[in-house]
Amino acid sequence: MVKIGVLGLQGAVREHVQAIEACGEEAIIIKSKDQLDEIDGLILPGGESTTMRRLIDQYDFMDKLKHLGELEKPMFGTCAGLILLAKKINGYDETHLGLMDVVVERNSFGRQKESFEADLAILGVADHFNAVFIRAPHILEVGENVEILAKHNGRIVAARDRHILGCSFHPELTDDHSLTQYFINMVKEKINK
Ligand code: GLN
Repeated sequence: MVKIGVLGLQGAVREHVQAIEACGEEAIIIKSKDQLDEIDGLILPGGESTTMRRLIDQYDFMDKLKHLGELEKPMFGTCAGLILLAKKINGYDETHLGLMDVVVERNSFGRQKESFEADLAILGVADHFNAVFIRAPHILEVGENVEILAKHNGRIVAARDRHILGCSFHPELTDDHSLTQYFINMVKEKINK
C-alpha cells in the first residue's frame, strides 16, 4: 500500500481521500507541514488557488512543498491544484509552487459555463471519462517534457510533466477513479525505481 497525502488546507479534500481509499491505498489529510515527510505522493485539490496560497504561506508550507518537488515526489494537482503547480499563470506576475512546466489560464471556460461536464478521452487512462469542470483553468502551453493527456474543445485539460500530473477538472467528484489510479501507479513506479 502507498500513502498518499491530500493537502488539507482548503477545497475538495475528503472526496480525494475517498477516491484514494476506493483504489485500495492509504490517504492522509495534510494539515501540518511535518506530515509531508510521511507520504509517497501528494494531491493538491481543487478549491480556490489564491486562498490555498494564502494558507500555504500562513502555515509555512512553501519550503517543504518545494522540497518535495526537489525529491521528485509524485504530485497531482486538480483544478486549483494545477494552478498551484504551474510554472506560469497567464496574466499574473506571481506563481505559486512553479513545479510543473506549463502555462495555465484561470477561469478559462467563461461565465456562462461556470461548471459543466464533458466526456474526455484521457491518454493511458480512459477512452471515456466524465469530467466535472468548475470555474476551471486550462493549460495554454506545455514545456518539452510534458505529455498532453487530454483536450476539451482543443484546449489542454490534462497533462503530465514526468512525476507531476495536472488536470483542469475534478476527477474526485465522480465514481470513476481511473485517473486517481493512474496517479497511484505513478507513485508506485517512483517507489520501485
Ligand atoms: N477558479 C479557481 C482558481 O482559480 C479554481 C476552481 C476549482 O478549483 N474548481 O483557483
